[in-house]
Amino acid sequence: MIGTLAVLLALTGFGRDSAPGVVTVTGVNGEVRVPVWTDPTGAPVIAAPMLMSALDGSARVADGWAEVSVARQAFRFLVGAPLYFFDNRLQPLAAPAFVARDTLFLPFQFIAEILPTYFSERYRYDRRRARLIDSGGPRAPVARAPAPPKEPDRLRNGLRPGHIVTLDPGHGGVDPGNPGVFFPRGTREKDVTLEIGLLLRDELKRRGVGVQMTRISDTLIALADRGAYCTEACDLFVSLHVNALARRRGYTDISGFETYFLAEAKTEDAARVAQMENEAVRFEGGASRADQAVGLDFILKDLQLNEHLRESARAAELVQHNLRNAHTGENRGVKQAGFMVLTTARRPAILVELGYSTNPQDGQLLTTRSSQKAMAAALADAIVDYLLDYERKTGSPRDSGVSQ
Ligand SMILES: [Zn+2]
Repeated sequence: MIGTLAVLLALTGFGRDSAPGVVTVTGVNGEVRVPVWTDPTGAPVIAAPMLMSALDGSARVADGWAEVSVARQAFRFLVGAPLYFFDNRLQPLAAPAFVARDTLFLPFQFIAEILPTYFSERYRYDRRRARLIDSGGPRAPVARAPAPPKEPDRLRNGLRPGHIVTLDPGHGGVDPGNPGVFFPRGTREKDVTLEIGLLLRDELKRRGVGVQMTRISDTLIALADRGAYCTEACDLFVSLHVNALARRRGYTDISGFETYFLAEAKTEDAARVAQMENEAVRFEGGASRADQAVGLDFILKDLQLNEHLRESARAAELVQHNLRNAHTGENRGVKQAGFMVLTTARRPAILVELGYSTNPQDGQLLTTRSSQKAMAAALADAIVDYLLDYERKTGSPRDSGVSQ
């Protein structure tokens, strides 16, 4: 118990506030100043090439792992997941190592805690002065030009390691989403989106794609805050939902899946779905950032976002194409609408309506473990197809680097 507690305390010590903007690495041959960046979650990180040049170590990425060698010791970081191997043990991290623009980034925790803990005779971290002191080891020039970035090895599916996708299971907490006419008793939209979201997370990790979740339990995240999980280091934002129709003649006959990307609603039905999903705002407290959400017109003028529209549309197309094989309902195609959850994502973003809870067959499909898994696998395949497409176009896992 005490061990677990100690780990938790250590992890909470590495938030945005506790990290300096620059850390000075002092070795026997001089000093190197290494900037500290933040990852999309605000966790402090350091570019591995600069750090390795300061520490006279080496780092390379292969098969989804970052192999870091410092003081003749090998650390292996799982890219995109907050875990590392040292001394044959898998250990937790405050934040994952990740790759952006062919550059490996390591959590700040590596120099502030991990090195000083394992090699206390050699490394000391002075938190007040933001200084890592290397007291010995073999003499070597400290300040060397960082090695030129080299082509990282590819994963078995052809992807470069280091992709990150944000998954957003719709609704949660006091916002149940739609009640689910043909769901088992007590199951609501928020339960189904979370179940499929977690399965999709596993499928993506299996395919070497890093995943960030807007929620992993039954909690409410403000709509305007969800997209903020997907910033520079994130490749794609995927929001998961379940559709429902109001009671009217024959409404239970409508079934199927559709994928939206952000734009002005093109049809009455798209406007209806957008309005339904945007309604979650009413569950959020008055102080929510949703109140300040910028209007769609303004956002559409944002050039960067316009550029993302093409990418988002392509992702939506691939989701529809792949989901066909895992769904018994109708392929309702790619649609456009003004979802608030999509307006705040600064990267390509889509919203998948996985089926209709008001249709008996869809209701069963959405709440049966085996068909949930099949859908998650189809979605993961679609996302990998999208990332491969994107790499072919840009030649890099991501088109923008990490910024502070
Ligand atoms: Zn929904």
